[in-house]
Amino acid sequence: MRNRVGVIGGGAAGMTAALAAAAGGAQVTLLEGNERLGKKILSTGNGKCNLGNEKLDPEEYYTGSPKLLEKCLRRFGTEETLAFFQGMGLMTVSRRGYLYPLCQQASAVLDVLRYGVAARGIDVVTECKAERLGRDRETGKLRVSGSGKVFTFDKVILACGGCAAPKTGSDGSGYRLAQQLGHSLVPVVPALVQLRCREDYFKAVAGVRTDALLTVLHQGRRAAEERGELLLTDYGLSGIPVFQLSRVVNYILLEDGSRKSCGVGENRGVEIRINLFPDYAEDAFLKLMEDRKRNLLQGQRTVEEFFAGMLHKKLMLLFIRLAGLKPGESAAGADQGKMVQVYRLCRNWCVHAIGSNSYDNAQVCAGGVPLEEVTDDLESKKVPGVYFAGEILDVDGKCGGYNLQWAWCSGHLAGRAAAGKWKKEIH
Ligand SMILES: Cc1cc2nc3c(=O)[nH]c(=O)nc-3n(C[C@H](O)[C@H](O)[C@H](O)COP(=O)(O)OP(=O)(O)OC[C@H]3O[C@@H](n4cnc5c(N)ncnc54)[C@H](O)[C@@H]3O)c2cc1C
Repeated sequence: MRNRVGVIGGGAAGMTAALAAAAGGAQVTLLEGNERLGKKILSTGNGKCNLGNEKLDPEEYYTGSPKLLEKCLRRFGTEETLAFFQGMGLMTVSRRGYLYPLCQQASAVLDVLRYGVAARGIDVVTECKAERLGRDRETGKLRVSGSGKVFTFDKVILACGGCAAPKTGSDGSGYRLAQQLGHSLVPVVPALVQLRCREDYFKAVAGVRTDALLTVLHQGRRAAEERGELLLTDYGLSGIPVFQLSRVVNYILLEDGSRKSCGVGENRGVEIRINLFPDYAEDAFLKLMEDRKRNLLQGQRTVEEFFAGMLHKKLMLLFIRLAGLKPGESAAGADQGKMVQVYRLCRNWCVHAIGSNSYDNAQVCAGGVPLEEVTDDLESKKVPGVYFAGEILDVDGKCGGYNLQWAWCSGHLAGRAAAGKWKKEIH
């Protein structure tokens, strides 16, 4: 008789785990709450699926157990990911280190996974939402029930994702299943998500895109820093650097006890300093100010005209107003202290994030089942025979293909171990 492995969750990690377990000789059943597998994969990378990164470094991830994460990534890294997909026929391409399917279609990634699942004879049960998981005392087998169905397995892999983008199926029910087994959870917050700010002037600058260095400050100290293209929205900040910082901001707000569950709370907010001239050292910027003063502070220029040509017009107008000046007043006659304040805002614009957008907009969740509670093979230390893979674990990566890389990596390790260990036991 073959080892029976049940995989709960047919996303990136679950499909990979099912394939790895089947390749290891197990008889695999894949349970998926949705009507089809891998819905989230289709929306990844703006429909192009950034499936990995040539520069795979544990530093690109957040977890409570960096050593175990590093071990996992060493066992199944970028090379193994590429071989996995090439083995299923997917051609890939690197764009400045970011890995995509050559055809630039996320659907191709899902297709090769689905065809692989079918070719391996994996039994797929869709529209089956697992609600309970535990060990049957009489048989010693693992029992999964939900959507009116009951299954018994020798091993179970929990790959339900987190609660980011719940419309794709990951609604946090995996966390509840883990808790039924006695697992704890590192607090879960939305990550890779937009930030909402306290300031009420954002509508005036919505739509502006600009290069920026963003620094998150907590209790006066630098908590995190990111540089990249900042996108201003009518409620606050977006863009890759903001996505990268969002988990830090959400954890600070959570820690401060001032964050409401959905993202926006009544709080003073986390301070974010924005430098819109990150390539200028202090003295170079001072020189720029002096040069502009010498060249432009003559004639009849208004304040608005004086500051033209530095940043996006909407931003300069905002800074002029924040400095207490009127765009139409004479630059030469204006309070020169306030003129300097406009320049200061260009390099030191301070805003306050009071929360993030909700899980609906988040690409991933930070937090989850702690790696301390699983073995090197991602097997539960609480209930042997249960494995974890993907975002349900306390691992989240930065933008750049790192989260899917973790899904493939952890899916493989859990799948292989769930199949292999059983073999060891019967021989
Ligand atoms: C818009 C968007 C863009 C992204 N782009 C990228 C990108 O380009 N590169 C990158 O690396 N990462 C990207 N990510 C993140 C990446 O998609 C996820 O980290 C990854 O898909 C997580 O895989 P997973 O299998 O652990 O979870 P999921 O993909 O969430 O899959 C979990 C599956 O389990 C099912 N499920 C949940 N609970 C149950 C249950 N109780 N019973 C049965 N089934 C259940 C769900 O329906 C779902 O199909 C993006 C995410 C989003 C939302």
